[in-house]
Amino acid sequence: MVTGTAVAANFQEQLHYIDDEASGVRGVIAIHSTALGPAAGGCRLWHYDSDQDMSADAIRLARGMSYKNALAGLPFGGGKAVLRRPSGAFDRKAFFRVLGEAVEALGGQYITAEDVGTSVGDMKAVREHTSYVAGLVTARGMAGGDPSPWTALGVFLSMREAARMSLGSDVAGLTVAVQGVGNVGTGMCRLLAEAGAKLIIADVSRDRVNDLVQELGAVAMDTDEIVGAEADIFAPCALGAVINERSIPQIKARLICGGANNQLATLEDGFELQRRGIAYAPDYLVNAGGIINVAAEYLRETTDEVRERVARIPDRLREVLLLSSQTGQPPHLVADAMAEQIITSARAEVV
Ligand code: NAD
Repeated sequence: MVTGTAVAANFQEQLHYIDDEASGVRGVIAIHSTALGPAAGGCRLWHYDSDQDMSADAIRLARGMSYKNALAGLPFGGGKAVLRRPSGAFDRKAFFRVLGEAVEALGGQYITAEDVGTSVGDMKAVREHTSYVAGLVTARGMAGGDPSPWTALGVFLSMREAARMSLGSDVAGLTVAVQGVGNVGTGMCRLLAEAGAKLIIADVSRDRVNDLVQELGAVAMDTDEIVGAEADIFAPCALGAVINERSIPQIKARLICGGANNQLATLEDGFELQRRGIAYAPDYLVNAGGIINVAAEYLRETTDEVRERVARIPDRLREVLLLSSQTGQPPHLVADAMAEQIITSARAEVV
């Protein structure tokens, strides 16, 4: 295997390239920060048109993990592994052997787990070559396994807090429009229904929608119309970049809070929400339940410890929203600045 290390001009730490001719694996491990602890973040297996696109994605995702981990109060920095998915068939086990060897070679600076395109089975294959991996099945009562129920819980608790602060009401009686009822969206809908919220839901999977209509009495809506639904809260739980210059004029909700990553297409879109009086709960802050569970698994903590940490997500959100209203800065920038400050202070302590 050929590996190389480089430091990108505007990147704080390192890029480790993976290029294994025998298996055809090409990838990169981006470490954005280890100031708070080892860089933690999953491995994405995805089609990229070029190595440049792959590296750019890894850098963006690693930075996002640094911010997410910092605001979640975790003793971890941020990193991400990205592998290029071949267009044809490929030897999956060989792929994750190569990833495991690359992670092991970093000696614990980076800890991997699942992300888009990778599974528990893949992490089992990685585990054969390194111990710097999480996202595996663990004993009852111990942290581990599917992170999405924890993500759903964190988003739900955050939504309650944000609704109280920006709409002056608990979620009971409010209408929440949910885009995407997969693992996170479904868990969140169940908690919302239990708390007395009304639900409007949309998903490209008709089966998922029908199931929740039956189970929770949710109202189904077309995927093209959910952004503009007559609702108090819009909860993106499917795709990134759904808040953009085309969608913002359609939004009728006064609060956006959901589980999807990278909801704002650009930073400018966060300013536009603020100009229109739409409150925004920063995505990486409210959806940290999953990484909290992954981190706890790695630290061999219990599910009770995960629950306690997830329950503290709304405290941080309250800080962000209060500072936003005091300073006039939009919440997405307040959250970024807060995360950067936590990382910078830790870095200063290390030096
Ligand atoms: P998932 O694949 O289980 O669910 C996504 C759902 O969105 C699917 O049901 C899919 O059919 C639906 N969908 C796709 N395109 C759609 C569209 N145009 N309109 C409406 N629905 C559409 O994924 P998930 O694990 O529930 O994750 C959802 C989001 O939350 C993703 O952005 C993910 O990155 C983010 N996230 C997940 C976790 C986690 O713990 N799973 C943690 C942090 C962030």
